[in-house]
Amino acid sequence: MFGKLFKRDNGPFKLRIEGVAEPIEVDNKTFLLTAALDAGIPIPYSCRVGGCGTCKVRLLDGKVKEYTDKTYLLTPEQLQQNYILSCQAVARSDLSIAVDDLDLTASAEERITRSGRISAVAPLTHDILQLTIELDGPLSYRAGQYADLTVPGVIAEHRSYSFAGRPEPGGNRRVVFHVRKVPGGAFTEWLHGGAREGTELTVAGPGGDFWLRPNDAPMLCVAGGSGMAPLKALLEQAVVEGVQRDCTYLYGARTQQDLYCEAEMAQIAEQWQGRFEFVPVLSEEPEDSDWPGRRGLVTAFLQEGGRNLSEYHAYMCGPPPMLDAAIAELQAQGIGPANIHFDKFLDKSHAARLSA
Ligand SMILES: Cc1cc2nc3c(=O)[nH]c(=O)nc-3n(C[C@H](O)[C@H](O)[C@H](O)COP(=O)(O)OP(=O)(O)OC[C@H]3O[C@@H](n4cnc5c(N)ncnc54)[C@H](O)[C@@H]3O)c2cc1C
Repeated sequence: MFGKLFKRDNGPFKLRIEGVAEPIEVDNKTFLLTAALDAGIPIPYSCRVGGCGTCKVRLLDGKVKEYTDKTYLLTPEQLQQNYILSCQAVARSDLSIAVDDLDLTASAEERITRSGRISAVAPLTHDILQLTIELDGPLSYRAGQYADLTVPGVIAEHRSYSFAGRPEPGGNRRVVFHVRKVPGGAFTEWLHGGAREGTELTVAGPGGDFWLRPNDAPMLCVAGGSGMAPLKALLEQAVVEGVQRDCTYLYGARTQQDLYCEAEMAQIAEQWQGRFEFVPVLSEEPEDSDWPGRRGLVTAFLQEGGRNLSEYHAYMCGPPPMLDAAIAELQAQGIGPANIHFDKFLDKSHAARLSA
């Protein structure tokens, strides 16, 4: 009798999603987000490691097991309303969930895996390089999204990198990324550590829901380090599409030697159909240097010039601490969460801290 009482039900379970006609079958090991995406249901997501909160869904009925602490990502109201992170929860019974702003028409995006070969590796700064990969077939994506790279014999698990160039009609056969060297990092130490041209790898994508939403609101872009890559792609695509919104782009770097893509930003400024301002902000530039620009943290300049942030839509990419500070400030200044779009460049050290 006790055996029966305490036996855990391993499924399969039915996952019902409000607004979706048929339930999906899930087991007790697959994250709800993965199961939904595999079934073509486009739950918004970004980091997939429980670090951003984009994939939150409301649990209406049923039991789940959650793998990371969500309390610091969700508001007290959301916790009270039973929101969970779908990228970190697995089913323990039949479930019903609701997804805010679920757009079923967005489900057409196809994620595919391509084989590729590194064709060029070129330094952009002392610790960021440009990685160019030729693919065996076209890969479609939206400007701002990322791909998952796997290099047999170097990294068993994929690493995510944001596309640094804009998408071509019919898909890209050549894809470009900006890869910053992370001390102790398996992939980036390898990539930065020798001649890697000719290496075979796989590129799976696209991933993420960081792209420019159609709107007239002025844009505030914030990036740091290799977070430049998706913003560059997004802004270049916006130029091609003739976007006419005002745009301020704050770019955080340590010193002048960490700045890059200045020529590309100047070109965007020239072609942008509205007011465009690229504002580099240096946090560790020597006080006595010839740098004429802003010094400090980008967050100190969000409201520069009396900017009324509540009118803006934000697009941000880069290191998690910078984004966390910016998100908190923007929300405090009245930008609703739906108008703050971001990709945090989380790595294994952040994931380890989150699951500790
Ligand atoms: C959506 C997304 C987009 C991204 N886009 C970009 C991009 O465009 N450009 C870019 O440069 N980066 C990007 N990143 C980060 C990128 O995916 C990698 O995480 C990063 O390059 C590090 O990879 P690595 O293999 O060198 O390091 P890893 O081997 O993953 O290690 C990272 C760090 O964690 C430490 N570490 C490893 N294992 C553990 C452990 N168990 N416990 C504690 N610490 C550990 C390592 O010593 C190292 O310091 C993105 C990340 C995400 C989530």
